[in-house]
Amino acid sequence: MTAGPRIGVLALQGDVREHAHALESVGAEPLAVGSAADLTRIHGLVIPGGESTTMSKIAVRDGLIGPLREARAAGMPMYGSCAGMIMLADRVLDARPDQEFVGGLDITVRRNAFGRQVDSFEAPIRLEGIPTEQADAADHGPLTAVFIRAPWVEDVGPGVEVLGRLRQEGAPDTIVAVRQGRLMATAFHPELTGDRRVHAIFVGMVRQAS
Ligand code: GLN
Repeated sequence: MTAGPRIGVLALQGDVREHAHALESVGAEPLAVGSAADLTRIHGLVIPGGESTTMSKIAVRDGLIGPLREARAAGMPMYGSCAGMIMLADRVLDARPDQEFVGGLDITVRRNAFGRQVDSFEAPIRLEGIPTEQADAADHGPLTAVFIRAPWVEDVGPGVEVLGRLRQEGAPDTIVAVRQGRLMATAFHPELTGDRRVHAIFVGMVRQAS
């Protein structure tokens, strides 16, 4: 049996264990990442959900913001869920003024975008725009997406593919999953359901890149 790619989960704060478990179940070898040295041992990185202001503070305190940006700029595939989406966005609305980001995704996200009406909810999301080599992953109907004080994507640049939209009666569609090159992000938490399609797509991206 060939070993799967080693994929880090940024372990500063948030639901690290759930992502590690999901990665393992689709054939990757997870590694909790807490230092710049750890970044040199992985082929891809997941930035989990949690609280992006806290994650940012710890990353700055531990000297990780620079190395994370460098790893991303050097082409490391990264996937962010919820707070992780915020960390990977180039533009963040309703951020704290001192909040630092990894960036790289040419998107504008709004933090806690749904939170004014409702803190958390589930909704079906149909994955779109999955490349043929990973199309199996999209072929089994909509996935149940869990949103917890989630951001949404207000605007995407020309190089960004939309992978999923939340469609609700009487409200405009909202972009909740995107990909640009080696970066992917979802506003929801696929690690909290048994549906491993998003993680399978990411492992496919990592395999392709390495
Ligand atoms: N609201 C959180 C933030 O701004 C994200 C919530 C989550 O990751 N579930 O970071």
